Order: sequence, then structure tokens, then C-alpha cells
Amino acid sequence: MSSYNLVKMQNKLKKELDDARFIHTLGVMYTAASLAMCYGEDLERTSVAGLLHDCAKCIPNPQKLKLCEHYKLPVSDIERKAPHLLHAKLGASIARDKYGVDDSDILNAIRFHTTGRAGMSQMEKIIFVADYIEPGRTKAPNLPQIRKTAFADLDLAVYLTLRDTLIFLEEKKTNLDNQTIVAYNYYEEFLAERED
Ligand code: FE
Ligand code: FE
Repeated sequence: MSSYNLVKMQNKLKKELDDARFIHTLGVMYTAASLAMCYGEDLERTSVAGLLHDCAKCIPNPQKLKLCEHYKLPVSDIERKAPHLLHAKLGASIARDKYGVDDSDILNAIRFHTTGRAGMSQMEKIIFVADYIEPGRTKAPNLPQIRKTAFADLDLAVYLTLRDTLIFLEEKKTNLDNQTIVAYNYYEEFLAERED
């Protein structure tokens, strides 16, 4: 059983993020902790994942690309053109290297927090949804519905978040990660099968 010093982590992280991102981070941490209480997930480890999910967000883009090289992370053409997309997988490497996290579930929750993926663990689902519904979020459509659903049916909340993420990205005509489409189809089928 590893134990984490959340206060120490918070103090270190505060220096790496701007104020708005730090507040968002605390919102995700406490929302994730609440969902962990609701679903019987490990509180401390889920809090660590929420706290560190955006730890690479405020690194300047050229530096992000350099760090991906350093950590030997593959960078696609789309990511090279839009390096902000790298903060999730880079965040997982930094959580391991700079914050001493060696828990694969925490690291995967950080790695897949933006795109989601098919077959997420409970902790991955919690971080994915918490990032979308934390109290500081205001712009996403269907927020009241997804917030309520998150505490009643986590898989449905994951599906609704994926659906709205896809609609939003399609409207913006921005780069859509194929992983999000695969995840959306996976949870659509998962929910359909569950109804049978
Ligand atoms: Fe993020
Ligand atoms: Fe975030």
C-alpha cells in the first residue's frame, strides 16, 4: 500500500499551473473523490489522479514536444500541429517521473482523461467524467443532466460525456481523436447490451 502526500503534491503542482488551471484541478480532485465515495473506488488514489490529471497542461507547447521526445512518447502529425493535445499522455509521464506515481491505474486515468478509451477502469471513468462536470465548468451542454447521472450511473455518464465531446469537436471541426470515437461506440454497445 503506497501512501501519497497530497499536500506536498498540491504545493508542487501550484507552481506548475496558472491560477485558473489550479482551481480547475482542485474541482476535478474533489469531484473525483466524491465519485470515488459513491462507487467504492480508492479515495486517496483517485484524488491523486484528479490532482495530477492536468499537470502538463501549462507547459509551453515547444517544451511539450521536447519532453515527449525525452520520454519517448509517440507524437502524431495532428499532435505536432496541436501540441496541447499532448498534455494527457505527457502528464502521465510527468506524474511518474516528477511526482513519484507508479500506479498504472492512476497513470492511465491521467493518460486517457481527454480522449477516453474503450474498456476504461472505474478510476479512468471517474476522472474522465469528473474533468467534464467539476463545479467550475459552465459551457458544456447537458451539464445538469450529466452531473446528476454521474452519481447514479457512471457508465451512462461516460457515454453522455463522450457523445457531447464528439458533438462539440465536430462542430468546432478540430482534431478528433479516433480513440474517442472507438470509446463512444464501445459504450453505446455496452449500454445496449446491458438493457437486454
Ligand atoms: Fe486536461
Ligand atoms: Fe482538466
